[in-house]
Amino acid sequence: MATILVVEDEHELAALIRRQLEAEGHTALTVHDGRTALLLAEQARPDLVILDWMLPELDGLAVMRRLRERSAVPILMLTARDDEADRVLGLEVGADDYLTKPFSLRELLARVRAILRRIELLTRPPTTVDTSPIVHDRLAIDPLARRVTIDQQVVDLTVKEYDLLLLLARNPGRSFSRAYLLDHIWGDDYEGGDRTVDTHIVRLRRKLGEQGERISTVWGVGYRFE
Ligand code: CA
Repeated sequence: MATILVVEDEHELAALIRRQLEAEGHTALTVHDGRTALLLAEQARPDLVILDWMLPELDGLAVMRRLRERSAVPILMLTARDDEADRVLGLEVGADDYLTKPFSLRELLARVRAILRRIELLTRPPTTVDTSPIVHDRLAIDPLARRVTIDQQVVDLTVKEYDLLLLLARNPGRSFSRAYLLDHIWGDDYEGGDRTVDTHIVRLRRKLGEQGERISTVWGVGYRFE
């Protein structure tokens, strides 16, 4: 079972969430402010963070940015208003999912289960090393030559663009979170902001033209190759 960090300044709600998570067999840690959350995230290495947007001093958004600087831990954001939810959804903040208050505990647990299932899937290696060419209609990838062609015309990609495309195209239909992609494509090279994956996807789509439409954005998750 998972270790889950609950960051919520409403003490009663935090306790309620903790009891529900514990009833599911998880270890739940509750903190009531952003600074303690960052400290505890460092020490306890949680598998998931449930993070309230409205916190005293350091708000949820700031906590998420700091967390993202050093960790790919999945984050479920709790928001009080729809406009916050829009920012979680549409912006660079890097949450894996969100819930708008008020929410039911059943809904919260369902989201938690979904995220934990997803990370369990993602921590398994996608495939063993495979050098066979990948062909999707007009798009072909030759892993031995590290070459991508569309209708036999070579598409000029950077190393990271190529690695992204290879991972996605090798696993069609599977959704990859931004955090996973950052971890597996960039790893220790990672220096950019939260938007690194998004900007690479934009460039990759542009270079692939019509074939770029195969890379779809998965709401609340990341990207998937169709
Ligand atoms: Ca709050």
